[in-house]
Amino acid sequence: MDPSLYLVATPIGNLEDITYRAVRTLGEVTLIACEDTRQTRKLLEHYNIGTPMVSYHEHNEKERSADLVARILAGQSIALVSDAGTPLISDPGFRLVSRAIAAGVPVIPIPGPSAALSALAASGLAVDAFRFGGFLPPKSGQRRRELERWSASTDTLIYYEAPHRLCETLADIVAVMGPARPVTVAREITKRHEEFLRGACAEVLADLSARDAVKGEITLLIGRGPASPEKPIPIPCGGPLRP
Ligand code: SAM
Repeated sequence: MDPSLYLVATPIGNLEDITYRAVRTLGEVTLIACEDTRQTRKLLEHYNIGTPMVSYHEHNEKERSADLVARILAGQSIALVSDAGTPLISDPGFRLVSRAIAAGVPVIPIPGPSAALSALAASGLAVDAFRFGGFLPPKSGQRRRELERWSASTDTLIYYEAPHRLCETLADIVAVMGPARPVTVAREITKRHEEFLRGACAEVLADLSARDAVKGEITLLIGRGPASPEKPIPIPCGGPLRP
């Protein structure tokens, strides 16, 4: 393979959600840099891929990036994968990509799943404009400030959230954006217990609060608020229209 950095998207649950090109790339590169070698080994074994792996995570990003870029400059091809989904999207890799670009190394995306976009597509919320906010802050005060900041946005808001914090976060949305604000909770996308809860935030919260526990991986989407008052018709260039 050409000496390049390949950003390879991997499944977010269902092992069949990987492209032919991703499988071929993982099989042909010199080395796979992965967040957790145990996690990636499961995928490689499923596809009979024997490419060596090296760990690349938030604690060794700095040194590892320099080493990986040096390897590519010396002629090796490297694939970067995360535990699931698209590398860099709330996952490590930004430092490596920046360093590779600065060194003139080609950076090649091999597209595939990402929880944010799969959740958005099936959410039933507007998709014409959206904002991905990564993980919401774990503390309620900071979380409410984040929600206040985007409350008036007409974009659909997408966040990753931990299951044990979901009800607390939905309560914050009710407090900041009102009980009728539309939300979608996308849980365990592509897995056996995949579930989408769609509706007014207070209703979704009531549904989840009645359960013993909320488990699994969660992507939370917030729809736009009540329609803003109609914008005044803009005055055309050259001044107001005259009869
Ligand atoms: N890079 C990944 C991607 O492209 O989707 C995201 C990595 S981030 C560390 C992991 C978070 O993504 C989880 O905590 C959860 O919020 C969300 N997520 C991942 N897989 C999911 C799934 N199958 N269903 C719903 N949300 C998921």
